[in-house]
Amino acid sequence: MPKPMKRREVIKHLEAIGATFLREGGEHTVYACPCGQHTTAVPRHREITAGVVGSIQRQIECQPKGWLQ
Ligand SMILES: [Zn+2]
Repeated sequence: MPKPMKRREVIKHLEAIGATFLREGGEHTVYACPCGQHTTAVPRHREITAGVVGSIQRQIECQPKGWLQ
């Protein structure tokens, strides 16, 4: 089960797998997966809920399960 995470920790993990900043939205920061097939939106909140951590993890589906923990 995913656990809530701090936004900066989520971004650190995204950068660690080689994801790159794509664009800043109103409420989300969008990152592109290094495979070129996936994108994910990180809410602009200090704390990211477990549910959102789970969906970010699923959106970057080319990475090994549990990459975002
Ligand atoms: Zn991917």
